Amino acid sequence: MLTTDIGIRQRLERERNRLQTVITRLRNQDSELGPTDREHNQALEMNLQRSLAQVEQALLSFDSAAYGLCDACRLPIDPERLRAMPYATLCLACKESQERTGNRRRAAAMTGSPGWSN
Ligand SMILES: [Zn+2]
Repeated sequence: MLTTDIGIRQRLERERNRLQTVITRLRNQDSELGPTDREHNQALEMNLQRSLAQVEQALLSFDSAAYGLCDACRLPIDPERLRAMPYATLCLACKESQERTGNRRRAAAMTGSPGWSN
């Protein structure tokens, strides 16, 4: 089904190339920057590397049956969601429940109360 969707694969490849270009550009800038800007660049690069890893993971799984399946529940991810975000690894329901859990953990960390009490 989705593995025949060439458009998504091309978009992933374009996105990978774009990210690689930006990362290379950031690295080349590094030597000309002061410490503050360099730190900023490194934080930016870390985010880009994370996106790049997601894109590469999606490309890897593209040829296998794993592409388009949710990592958590193994059900097909909504094609609309994949079109909007070709490297999504979770379906919307799992993503939302993961975010809720994450928010609860963050909130618990701030207030010091255990997140699992409610
Ligand atoms: Zn799911």
